[in-house]
Amino acid sequence: MRIPGLLDAHVHMRVPGGEHKEDFRSGTAAALAGGFTALLAMPNTLPPLTTPDIWRQTQLRARRQGLCDVYHFAGADADHPDQLLALGRLAPALKLYLDETYNQAPRYTDAVLRRITLLWPRHKVIAIHAEGESISTAIRLAAECSRPVHICHVSRKEDIERISAAKKNGLPLTCEVTPHHLFLTQADAARLGALGNMRPRLADQRDVDALWTHINSTIDCIATDHAPHTLQEKNDPDKSPPGVPGLESALTLMLTAVNQGRIKMERLVELMHTNPYRIYGLPAQPDTWVEIDPTARFTFPEYPLRTKCGWSPFSQMPMQGRLRKVVLRGKTVYADGKLTAS
Ligand SMILES: [Zn+2]
Repeated sequence: MRIPGLLDAHVHMRVPGGEHKEDFRSGTAAALAGGFTALLAMPNTLPPLTTPDIWRQTQLRARRQGLCDVYHFAGADADHPDQLLALGRLAPALKLYLDETYNQAPRYTDAVLRRITLLWPRHKVIAIHAEGESISTAIRLAAECSRPVHICHVSRKEDIERISAAKKNGLPLTCEVTPHHLFLTQADAARLGALGNMRPRLADQRDVDALWTHINSTIDCIATDHAPHTLQEKNDPDKSPPGVPGLESALTLMLTAVNQGRIKMERLVELMHTNPYRIYGLPAQPDTWVEIDPTARFTFPEYPLRTKCGWSPFSQMPMQGRLRKVVLRGKTVYADGKLTAS
């Protein structure tokens, strides 16, 4: 069975500054091994993608080294918001962090947030890391500044319900959830230890149930928030960084959900292809598709992982639905565990 090439609109490729965790070669290899033919990468790198020069250099490196299409968010430097005028002409979208996460702990004042938002092109999306109270700030920005706002990795029942209500009021809001928040809970976090540490944190079963309740309505996209760190870094008792890899497990997890009757195949394609392309306005890839065995059973991972970090919170999980082959612009780039892209 064929489905279109998937777009993961929330990944951390770790370039520049974290190439020992992931680089464009290993990250795009992991993408192809997971059925993704296009990626939209986050700007919280070292240095962050908050100037046109760094943004351009990084985009160029992705074009040279990547095995599939890689786009980049722009980041916002609260002290130099003027950079946003140039970045707004280059980047497909802007990312703002309202809550603390890896490499980013900015606290924007309301005035700075409004200024940043109004400097960004009116038709381009502003993606926001917002949890709990910050969700209200994100919704207010969409309402007051009439800008399309996308809320990243929603994980809590209260948060998805608040977004649902705001969308029903006609605000220009979209949102995404990650596979780890759909398939893992705090109980798994206890079992996984450092490997279950991510932002937002894993939640309760009631939160997971609420996300599934909204999977056919409020939720617009599945995005992995692929955030690799080495095992050595994760196991450091003093400063274990939050984040888990997700590119290679997302499709097979969602196919497993299709087999369990929790979601329809057409909806999977909307969440992982149609909607992210529409929200970010990215160009379609001609002659591009993914071939799957929709009901084949296996234990994850089927082949050695391609991500440089080399581990997954889903290791040893039974899956149903596997990827066979990826064709990008008419060329077979991945087939049965083998990369054939160049
Ligand atoms: Zn992220």
